[in-house]
Parts: sequence; C-alpha cells; structure tokens
Amino acid sequence: MEIFNSAFGDIKLDRLPLQSKEPLRAWDAADELLIKHIIEQQHSEDKQSFKKILIVNDQFGALALVLSRIDGCEVNSWSDSFISQLATEHNSESNGFDTSIQFIPSTEQPTDSYDAILIKLPKVTALLETQLNGLAKCINTKGQIIAAGMIKHMPKSVFSLFEKHIGEISTSLAEKKARLIFARNDEKTALKLPYPIEYTEPSLGLTLRNHANVFSKEKLDIAARFFLEHFHRLPVANNIIDLGCGNGVLGIMAHRQNSGSHIDFIDESHMAIKSARDNFITAFGETDTASFHTSECLSQVKQLNADLILCNPPFHQQHSVGDQIAWRMFRQSHQQLRKNGELWVIANRHMAYHVKLKRLFDNCRTVASTKKFVILQAIKH
Ligand code: SAM
Repeated sequence: MEIFNSAFGDIKLDRLPLQSKEPLRAWDAADELLIKHIIEQQHSEDKQSFKKILIVNDQFGALALVLSRIDGCEVNSWSDSFISQLATEHNSESNGFDTSIQFIPSTEQPTDSYDAILIKLPKVTALLETQLNGLAKCINTKGQIIAAGMIKHMPKSVFSLFEKHIGEISTSLAEKKARLIFARNDEKTALKLPYPIEYTEPSLGLTLRNHANVFSKEKLDIAARFFLEHFHRLPVANNIIDLGCGNGVLGIMAHRQNSGSHIDFIDESHMAIKSARDNFITAFGETDTASFHTSECLSQVKQLNADLILCNPPFHQQHSVGDQIAWRMFRQSHQQLRKNGELWVIANRHMAYHVKLKRLFDNCRTVASTKKFVILQAIKH
C-alpha cells in the first residue's frame, strides 16, 4: 500500500487485485495534476462550490476518494470496470472513510446535473466517445468538464472527440508528462454513434454485438479463432465457465456443441457482460441455461463445480502489461473445477503459461499450437 499525499490529507491506496511486492502505484501523474488543479481552484478567489461531481474512469479510487473529502460534495463514479468499484470501496474502507460514493456502470447513462465532470482518459477511444456523447446535458451552466491523461496517451483524435461532443478545448501545461484538457460546454446534442458494433462471423454462423469497450469488437480475435477451430477436441461438459468472456463467443460456441449445458459468463467489464448476454439471447433466445457475472476473476461467484473452464486471458490492465491476472484466473480455476474438470487456455506462446499451469495442476498438455499461439489443457486431479 502506498501513500498519496493530497491537500486533504494522506490517503492509502492499493491497486486491485492485491499482490505482494506490487511494482505499480494505484494512481499516476494525471490523477495528481487533476487533483492539484481542483484544489487550487478551491483556494482561489473565484472558488466554485462543488456540490456534485461525476468522476469518469477512475482506476483505483484516487480521484473519488480525494474529492469526496471536499466539504458537502457528493461524488458519483462512472466506469466500465467493476475492479475500479471494488478498489474504491477497498481503499475507502482501509482509510476508515465514511464515504457514500455512488457507482454508475458504463452500461447506464448518468442523469444528474453536475458541477464538475472529471474524466480520466480511458485506453479505448470508442469508450471515451460513448462517454462524451450526450454528456453536455449532465453539466450545470457554470459546471466544468476536465479530462486528465498522460501525454503519450493523448493523440490528436482525443482532442477532436472533445470538440465534436463537448465544445472548444484548451490544455494545461504539461507536468510529469501529464496534461489536462479543459472543454467548454457548447451544449452539443447527442449523435448517433456506431456502437454497439455488430458483425457476422460466417465461419461460426454467428452474429456478435459488441459494446464500445469490448475486446476485439470489430472482428473475431485471431487467438479465439484458433481456439474455436479446435473446439471439437473439448470434453463433453455440463457446467462450463467462460472466464474473461468479452462478447461471449467461446461460451456461446461451447453451449452450441453441449446442448443442455449451463454456461457461466464472467468478466470485470460491464460492457462485456452486456454484450455476452445480448449475444447469448440472440443465439439461443431467453433461457435459464446461462448466468452472467460482473466479477473480478472468479472472486464474486459461488463454488460452481465446473467441468470445463475456457479462458482467453487478458495481458493488460488498462495501460500496464503483465501476467498477474492470467495467473490469478488459473489459480481460481483450479479451486472452482470439480475433480477431473478441465481448464482450457488459449494464449500467446511467449507467455509460457504451460510452466505455471504445470506447477498448479501437476499436468499440462499442449493440444495445438502455431508459431504464435498455444492451446493448453490442464486437468484437476
Ligand atoms: N473471451 C473473449 C474472446 O476470446 O474474445 C475475450 C478475451 S480478452 C483477451 C480477456 C477478457 O478478460 C476481457 O474481456 C477483459 O475485460 C476480461 N478481464 C480482464 N481482467 C479481468 C478480471 N480481473 N476479471 C475478469 N475479467 C477480466
């Protein structure tokens, strides 16, 4: 746990999931710059009073927790990430804060009127665009819209999106490679956007609908395609988990070849779970043969006694790269599987997951491979 020094006092902040020897901090220079700017405003003569703030894409709660310290200020946090909510709650509790931050999932639209909308630039531009579209109606006449990000994540297209959906922009000076974008509210009305994106995959005979922040939203991921080509080798199964389901393509195809099976779709992204649900219903109609869980890996689901877990693990958490989430998915899969249940993983060969799986399951077989990908099978004994 690291200490974030803010003008409202020191705050302890963890990243989630927790890991020993965490090399990264739970905030960055863009969070610091945004908070510094708001605090300077609070101390200036033309101080604006903040009764209600909307924070967008806060990662681990740094913005929400510091700004909820402003006297009489109510904070709403709008994000696609369930981990962000868990981290904000965890950090609030470990600081002994009595905050009542309201969380709004990305699949819902904020409806209130805010004195400030503070946006942390997300990794996916399509998510930013859906968030900006129509946001003008949520800001008070004197309210401000400010975005913060690292300069290396601020291509020109980001500025254009603010001009298209909010209004004229100006920027702050750079500090520690971060910068703020100030957008004047020109009261732009909401436009018709191309999200969710829908495509039909002829090799699967499946139409997939993908909300803006969903992985590989424009076409089938090449690793998933390779995995699906080998689905005929999967064992027959009744209880199947699609872990890190994205648009649900793996679970949907597994259900197709195991009629009567129950599929649990798991993802930490609200938009992924909405897409998986939409796609399952399009493929099979409204049924009780699937459950949809917004969950950090398998932490929020009860023991499911799965026969089979399918996993195309992530190797990013926002801008940071690593295998800690995949490793966590494998460990939790080992706990969730029933005896003789199987975990099947599709991964980039260079991640060397077979070493980890062998250590955990005591066995790991390479079912198929290309120069780039491997399909791995590990059985719980
Ligand atoms: N299964 C889909 C496919 O094959 O196209 C998506 C795979 S994508 C590589 C990994 C997915 O894991 C993403 O949808 C991402 O949102 C999800 N994810 C990332 N971290 C997660 C976590 N800690 N818990 C649950 N899901 C997570």
